[in-house]
Amino acid sequence: MNLEDARKLDKKSFHKYASKLKFETRHFIDGKFVDGKKGKKFESINPATGEVIAEVARGDAGDVDLAVKAARKAFKSGVWSRMAPRDRMAIMYRFADLIRENALQFALIDTLDMGKPVMDMLNSDVPGSALTFQFFGETIDKIEGVVTNTAATEFQYILRQPLGVVGCIVPWNYPLMMASWKVAPALAAGNSVVLKPAEQSPLSANLMAKLFMEAGGPAGVFNVVQGLGEEVGKALALHMDVDKISFTGSTEIGKLMMVYSGQSNMKRVTTETGGKTPQIITADVPDMDMAIQYAVNGIFGNQGEVCNAGSRILVDAKIHDEFVHKFQEKAKASFLPGDPLDPSTTMGPLVDKGQQKRVLGYIDIGKKEGAKLEFGGAVPKGLEKGAYVAPTLFSGVKNKMRIAQEEIFGPVGAVLPFKKVEEAIEIANDSIYGLAASIWTSDVNLAHKAARDIEAGVVWVNCFDHGDMTQPWGGFKQSGMGRDKCLETLLTVTQTKSVWMHLG
Ligand code: NAD
Repeated sequence: MNLEDARKLDKKSFHKYASKLKFETRHFIDGKFVDGKKGKKFESINPATGEVIAEVARGDAGDVDLAVKAARKAFKSGVWSRMAPRDRMAIMYRFADLIRENALQFALIDTLDMGKPVMDMLNSDVPGSALTFQFFGETIDKIEGVVTNTAATEFQYILRQPLGVVGCIVPWNYPLMMASWKVAPALAAGNSVVLKPAEQSPLSANLMAKLFMEAGGPAGVFNVVQGLGEEVGKALALHMDVDKISFTGSTEIGKLMMVYSGQSNMKRVTTETGGKTPQIITADVPDMDMAIQYAVNGIFGNQGEVCNAGSRILVDAKIHDEFVHKFQEKAKASFLPGDPLDPSTTMGPLVDKGQQKRVLGYIDIGKKEGAKLEFGGAVPKGLEKGAYVAPTLFSGVKNKMRIAQEEIFGPVGAVLPFKKVEEAIEIANDSIYGLAASIWTSDVNLAHKAARDIEAGVVWVNCFDHGDMTQPWGGFKQSGMGRDKCLETLLTVTQTKSVWMHLG
């Protein structure tokens, strides 16, 4: 069912369609679904109910090797890498259309797998993923080489060529979208891909791979190996015939990618990793109510399981009390945890019980560190079966506290008061992370200075989370190296070749 029709469904219909959903749980290698070599399985669990929704192939290094061989064979054959650009574009566009046409299926799969509200999938993840394939499809015939200015006896031209086999390792917080951000540029540049989805959210990757073939994509170009990070992910990152790992996930595992590269074939690595995004609200905020609504959305959207979750809320002491009071009101009105298959639900469960325990653990840490729990802090009543945590806010937070320094990856905001904006920028930069930041001010000079001085890959002024496909997405410092979306990303899955001719 397409996006438009799916958005009109009610709770009963979402449940009915969800109960009828059939999952493909095998690997997708060389154009076919195949069982794992050893036949091992792992469970995919619905975090809203705790029920097992599927038993998924648990791959190993042998399965990874088969997928890489298929990807290499396809790459060398030129069936995709040398396809006429316009033909490759047409397949990318058809693929984007098929994602939209299968909106309901994608929405239900990711909602059941990782708990996000089904309407978030239909309003954001599905259209955003389709647009990603469209955007990178549009770039295919814009990849150009260069002829340089040389002496009359010499002639140099520089080709820009695909890398070969790109391994894409992605997290569970936006399963379809993160996979799209990695796979789309790699395919657009002519590479073959082996995608390793997160074990918490394995199922939408298989539907993607199947639809790529339906769109006319050749066998072997888009492969999926299912399994655990330390098994399949590690084997992919250590593989001697993978040219690049394009990674999104935690900073800890992102660092391992660089180690694996050094231990194997020095493959290229780009990483999009964690964050501890500051949202700075100055006293001359142009519209206080709007800023508060954005701040609420910034920390509680997607259950706070967002790399750029605005988890450090820096508020001018002059407006602090009013801010915290209104923040609570708006949070209550905007984010009520519930059944993610109910279209009125704005907050689902966390991805699993492990993540719930981790987030509740941080709430305990915050209390012990002396921060003031303003609201939330517990499992919501009546939702004990699922992995839920209520929207939570601490005030009186000091930036050296663990709840201000460590990525919680859940719906836990920390309010830090400041007296001068220079102090706020200092606090904002006092972090190992540097993915994103926002500042709310009516002072245009301050806006520009803050945008210049804040150490982050993305800075929003008087908004939060705005952007489109042209926006480079990626971090400073330990938030990773490399960028997603944007044209620059395309270059990171290509390499230049200098051809130098002596004309005699
Ligand atoms: P994670 O690092 O645990 O896992 C990410 C992926 O790596 C998964 O597919 C996992 O199976 C795999 N993996 C785990 N161990 C591995 C190993 N030893 N070798 C190879 N692969 C391995 O992260 P997560 O918990 O799935 O996702 C949450 C993290 O992702 C957060 O830190 C979040 O900030 C980050 N994230 C960043 C961005 C961004 O754009 N910067 C976007 C989304 C999520």
